[in-house]
Amino acid sequence: MGFPAGNSSRGSQRAILSIGEPVLRRVARAVELDELAGAQLQQLIDDVIETMRVANGAGLAAPQIGESVRICAIEVNHNPRYPYKPNIPLTVLVNPTWTRLTEELFVNNEGCLSVPGIRGDVARFTHIRVEALNRYGERLDFTVGGLSAGTYQHECDHLDGVLFVDRVADPTSLCTWENFERYRRQEYLLRAADLVARFGQ
Ligand code: ZN
Repeated sequence: MGFPAGNSSRGSQRAILSIGEPVLRRVARAVELDELAGAQLQQLIDDVIETMRVANGAGLAAPQIGESVRICAIEVNHNPRYPYKPNIPLTVLVNPTWTRLTEELFVNNEGCLSVPGIRGDVARFTHIRVEALNRYGERLDFTVGGLSAGTYQHECDHLDGVLFVDRVADPTSLCTWENFERYRRQEYLLRAADLVARFGQ
């Protein structure tokens, strides 16, 4: 099976859909291997990457640009939206699943390009195993810990029609980005420091 070489510079910026769009609430369908090799899904992957980068997202899932398939991308490279997030090299996940490696949860403060303007606290597992295919149909199997584990769980949620606001246990944690900076960032970073020290991510 011939997979074309990936080249995200071929990607086009697409409109990011906001909460309330029905496609964001659908369980996305799995991708077949022969379909993944085709030009259409390879272009979609390039579009997801380009759209994520232009919007300074830490990740983006295909349903966020209106395509209900189990594909997402994650990348953190000195991200201005989340300057404290450890870097993650560009990772494209196709049909990802994850399992927890611990019962331990941490309180992650999350935002989402599909939930403009709002952040909130969400409990996430501190250490997970991720299994997926990459864009070339090769098997990925790795573990992720710390803040980055939260990013992976957030993106995989999108493929099941789940948004972070569904998981906000304490609605009083909801706030604007500006008010996060003003009132919550310091406390969050203190909480996150332990995780970053333990996992380096
Ligand atoms: Zn999101």
